[in-house]
Amino acid sequence: MTPTLPADHPARIARAALALDGLSVGDALGETCFRDENFEAILDDPFATTRGPWSWTDDTAMALGIYEVLHEHGRVDQDVLARRFATRFEAEPWRGYGPGAIRLLAEVAAGGDWRVAADGVFRGGSYGNGSAMRIAPLAGYFADDDYAAVAQQARLSAEVKHAHPEGVAGAIAAAVAGACAWKHRATPADPATKRGLFDAVLAHTPVSEVRTGVARAAAIPFELPEPAVRLLDHGMSVQPFNTSMTPIVRQLGNGSRISCQDTVPFCVWAAARHLDDYQAAIVTTIRARGDIDTNCAIVGGIVALAVGAGGIPKEWRADREELVV
Ligand SMILES: [Mg+2]
Repeated sequence: MTPTLPADHPARIARAALALDGLSVGDALGETCFRDENFEAILDDPFATTRGPWSWTDDTAMALGIYEVLHEHGRVDQDVLARRFATRFEAEPWRGYGPGAIRLLAEVAAGGDWRVAADGVFRGGSYGNGSAMRIAPLAGYFADDDYAAVAQQARLSAEVKHAHPEGVAGAIAAAVAGACAWKHRATPADPATKRGLFDAVLAHTPVSEVRTGVARAAAIPFELPEPAVRLLDHGMSVQPFNTSMTPIVRQLGNGSRISCQDTVPFCVWAAARHLDDYQAAIVTTIRARGDIDTNCAIVGGIVALAVGAGGIPKEWRADREELVV
């Protein structure tokens, strides 16, 4: 049966493609910054990192899966999405999937039911940050709908692999942030827009550690210039991340634990703070280290919806490995 697509499907899928671009450039560039020489270089000059093609990773592979399902069905069909994730995994298993994802996707690729496989691999559901890392195309597709619709589709997409309440909350928070970025794309530099992004996320994210972390992020006075943040470092005897982002990372996390709780609050903060500047958003996110590719994928996907295709540096876009849709 041919799925019924909404009348404005072409506009929806164009937004999803924009978000996918923002996500995949962040993912691919972020992945290069696990190497110290690239990390150091990009802090001095955002275009001084190694030249491409930069391979994108599992974040983009799964986001492509969501993009394709929305392209064909106009909504999240969980069975189709699970198969699409598994097909992409089977074709390119070397994209940097986590050990749990490898077991689950291999079972689904072999014909297993995703519900049974997911419960076998992650009892109680996964709260890994994978639910948020892949969500931007969905945020784009539903960005003109109300937030409740965005949250509902984000929940459906998370349940395939990340059914734990924190996994669901992480997907919803990142999706609502992306939709909010699009709705306010005329005024991304306005402090009221940036504050409003936190308000929208807090209003629609279920009670969870993710939501508590976003509330903590909203309380940080990000109007402070970043050099002031840097000064806060000076009194610290321990600087595990060796960057000026240490105080922020201590409050919000940076994805080192690969969980939504430890990833999404920081990403919402970084995206809100730099909602009008993709390049600054990504460099700030890189400075926090942690799960760099995933953090940059989440932040890049949100900010792209605010700044549009012209806001993504063309040098970075040219260096990203081609997307195969
Ligand atoms: Mg990755």
